Amino acid sequence: MRTIVAGNWKMHTDSTGARSLVGALLEKLEGLPNTVEAIVAPPFPYLQRVLDQTRGSRIKVAAQNCHQAEKGAFTGEVSAAMLADLGVQACIVGHSERRQYFGETDAAVGEKVAALLAHGLLPIYCCGERKEERESGRHFEVVTAQLKAGLGELSEADLERIVVAYEPVWAIGTGLTASAQQAQDMHAHLRGLLRSHGSKVAATVPILYGGSCKPDNAAELFANPDVNGGLIGGAALDADQFVAIVRAAAESIG
Ligand code: PEP
Repeated sequence: MRTIVAGNWKMHTDSTGARSLVGALLEKLEGLPNTVEAIVAPPFPYLQRVLDQTRGSRIKVAAQNCHQAEKGAFTGEVSAAMLADLGVQACIVGHSERRQYFGETDAAVGEKVAALLAHGLLPIYCCGERKEERESGRHFEVVTAQLKAGLGELSEADLERIVVAYEPVWAIGTGLTASAQQAQDMHAHLRGLLRSHGSKVAATVPILYGGSCKPDNAAELFANPDVNGGLIGGAALDADQFVAIVRAAAESIG
């Protein structure tokens, strides 16, 4: 099973900041074993620069979103084909901020996944319940529905080419983290849903945890058998913190 630590920079940094962050990451990752895939997801305007700066290194580059259509009159949007053309390797889809602030539906997110796969990109499919859904005990139901609606149409072969990120919305950017047990319980549930598409799918698809994952809680989260790394927001903007999380992931797999 692959282990991945992906950094979602959201709408942060500028060109100078992006360059120095990537420079520091390249330098600090050098001493670490190559067993963990390190991915950064800068804002669209910096993708090309980050691709140039990371070429030939262990760092992969992801976008934070794409449009589901191949091309067309969709002012302001970016297609999976354009990302592939640039050389971007992965793309976050269905992040809760996209669902909440930009009205992205499960159906649209599913179409984005299909578009990314068609262009050979790795979709990082986000799911996760809101605070009130956890408090009312509906978290498994909500995440099951998201996974089915977003990924249900994919073939087994396509499912083997995705990554799932479990991101409880109440933990994103709040400083609250799912406990190691809460994370493992949901990841095991997700693994079971993937297993219904075949044992190879369940054994192949990494399930990342996201939600205030920091250097001081990463080791505990990654020690869970069904947690295969993390999707990191705030801590991804600091090279020392991001690299410490990559190190924790490397140590979790020995
Ligand atoms: C995220 O937005 O994907 C995320 C996990 O953010 P944070 O680590 O800041 O909670």
